Amino acid sequence: MKIPLLDLKEQYAPLREQMHKALDKILESQHFIGGEDVDALEREIADYSGVSDAVGVSSGTDALLASLMALGVNRSPLDEGPSAEVIIPSYTFFATAGCVWRAGAKPVFVDIDPKTYNIDSSQIESKITERTKAIMPVHLYGQCADMGPILDIAKKYNLAVIEDGAQAIGASRNGVKVGGFGNCACLSFFPSKNLGGLGDGGMVITNDSALAEKLRQMRNHGMAPKYYHKFVGGNFRLDALQAAGLRVKLPHVDEWAHMRSNNAAFYNAAFADNPNIKIPYIDPANRSIYNQYIISVPNRDGLLEHLRNNGIGCEIYYPLPLHLQECFAPLGYRRGDFPNSEYAAEHTLALPIYPELTREQLDYVAKRVNEFA
Ligand SMILES: *Cc1c(COP(=O)(O)O)cnc(C)c1O
Repeated sequence: MKIPLLDLKEQYAPLREQMHKALDKILESQHFIGGEDVDALEREIADYSGVSDAVGVSSGTDALLASLMALGVNRSPLDEGPSAEVIIPSYTFFATAGCVWRAGAKPVFVDIDPKTYNIDSSQIESKITERTKAIMPVHLYGQCADMGPILDIAKKYNLAVIEDGAQAIGASRNGVKVGGFGNCACLSFFPSKNLGGLGDGGMVITNDSALAEKLRQMRNHGMAPKYYHKFVGGNFRLDALQAAGLRVKLPHVDEWAHMRSNNAAFYNAAFADNPNIKIPYIDPANRSIYNQYIISVPNRDGLLEHLRNNGIGCEIYYPLPLHLQECFAPLGYRRGDFPNSEYAAEHTLALPIYPELTREQLDYVAKRVNEFA
């Protein structure tokens, strides 16, 4: 049996006709930038996420960068003195840290909670200095970070909160969906995310209409009116073709998350009696959308090889924590600084969790995992 980590063809098949129609409409119109579908998608995702505003952008990465710029965390060439600092987890996809750096701010890493793999909220306050401007919690693998304490700290020290919700559209904590916690949340439509586009795309969602307005200008070189620039932005726009394709998929995201959750329940039951497998811990306050299903095992690299030899797609998210990345060496972090991040990088593995997996496929994966672990 061959089971990929993700099979998007299965998702596409039933949507094929509708997708062609939606894209054809754009092709016939020859209007590729902005337009009806971008506006409609923004409205639909704002409604879906329970927020007032949404701004479509070119990627999840650009959503993060544009948010930092719109909230004034970025550094201008004329700024003097030390740069701003932004608190982020040391274990996440690189974009979170890369955007902070590109904005001219210093990423300040905080270790993760070993249970949820999200930022350890109890370690944030000790990292705050007079230069701290923002906290960027990541809702990793589809589960919300511990937002209560994070928002309390942000309020106490007057910090912006940018949620990295790239893996977590529609995930909720205590009934509040991603985007409803911080100043804004950043979504990604990279094809492997729960709502995947036909290429790159992203969105910033927020309850702050003034911030949304600024982001609309930010994504278009800070321009308004045409050819007049109040501030420096970028080309962070979302294509019409992407928006049209995403609108076909959006009505299915809850159903897909539900199917992923059922698949997770299957694995959880299959691994329950195996003391060598740590299954994902979902905080009872959270509803996860299971963008990834992550297990932790003593011999991760051995398991990875065993699964790949048996035709099972699996992946390490992520093999090297951010504080140990070569590009951040000048920040002076050392191995041992964030033991939970380092442990996760060495022991965790993502298994196939995509919605369309059959019972037989799930069973096959579970058997191959159990026989090794
Ligand atoms: C995917 C991802 C991003 C970046 O999104 P892109 O659309 O690929 O630019 C940022 N943060 C996290 C946690 C992600 O998983």
